[in-house]
Amino acid sequence: MNLKKFIFLFIFPLFIFSQGNEYENGKWNINQHTPQTQQKKPKTEKEIPQTQQKKQIKKKKNEVVRKNVSEIIDGKKWFGELILFDDSTSTWTPWSKKEIEKSRALLKIKSDTMKIFNEYWSTSKLFPYSRAKKNKNLQNLKDTIQIDLEASGDFYCSPSNKVNSSFGWRFGRQHKGVDTYGKTGDTLRAAFDGKVRFSGWNDGGYGHLIIIRHFNGLETYYAHCSKRISQAEDIVKAGDVIALLGETGRADGPHLHFEMRYFDQAFDPQNVIDIENQKIKDKFKSKNKNGEDTYIYPITKRDFSYIKKNNAKKYHKVKAGETGSNLGYKYYRDAYGGWKKIKKLNKLKSDIIYPGQKLRVK
Ligand SMILES: [Zn+2]
Repeated sequence: MNLKKFIFLFIFPLFIFSQGNEYENGKWNINQHTPQTQQKKPKTEKEIPQTQQKKQIKKKKNEVVRKNVSEIIDGKKWFGELILFDDSTSTWTPWSKKEIEKSRALLKIKSDTMKIFNEYWSTSKLFPYSRAKKNKNLQNLKDTIQIDLEASGDFYCSPSNKVNSSFGWRFGRQHKGVDTYGKTGDTLRAAFDGKVRFSGWNDGGYGHLIIIRHFNGLETYYAHCSKRISQAEDIVKAGDVIALLGETGRADGPHLHFEMRYFDQAFDPQNVIDIENQKIKDKFKSKNKNGEDTYIYPITKRDFSYIKKNNAKKYHKVKAGETGSNLGYKYYRDAYGGWKKIKKLNKLKSDIIYPGQKLRVK
């Protein structure tokens, strides 16, 4: 055996396997990445001036926070333990495969015993809360509901940080999510820890759809996927790969349609998330009941005030030269169908309209 062959067969594999393993999407991959905090070489004593050395002896590092976090580094998912010290240094130790499985198993036990995963749970219905009282009353909520997002602050559902279409009234109907455009096959990830409630095809426009219910009762929707990876009843950790981006259903190009819902009622994800910077808005950074860092979003009736606004009637005063199909297109992006709706609203029998005429368009 020559030397080259020896290196290739024995030394090179040893090198590869010593680079650490990485857990992603339910599988273990060999990875050549070492977390950044571990790559930093400690300063040798020679590099530290003597005065500083004295200070270091005097001052003992104190732990400020110790928590389990997940991090995306170079597009790969890591789980680990982060310790922050009072001198603003930190250490981060990635978990072993065993620890990750344990954490997933704990989430499974938690979800099995929680009411939120047993009541109004359906793997076939989109909106299982239709019979629940709370569903209808969110626009009249009296109190603020503090939603612990149990999050590290990162937001990484879609690789794109550009909002192409936001939550709001669009072409005669409410657009109940945010659209971020990307390429077919781009990775879509779970926003927070939770359990997949629905993974299937939807004829109503969502196409291939994943719905995750989170421990705080929130649900997140991921629509128009080209491929669904997670199955109903799967336990997912924030950042787990759940689907691939696509343009199935009613979509005008490959994009993620992302929704946040509480008791079936959608609200604007951009109330919570700074999509441009791919993180949860800083102002929601808080402490949970155990005194740990987290993000808490206060849901109020304001999140659902759009429902009343949408139900309000709307009128249009006809200008010279305007036709029924002009109005149909203007308000419903559908010349024929839109005009038909307007005609019905105004109980019109003919297509003739005249300047100055006041027509109800919504
Ligand atoms: Zn959309």
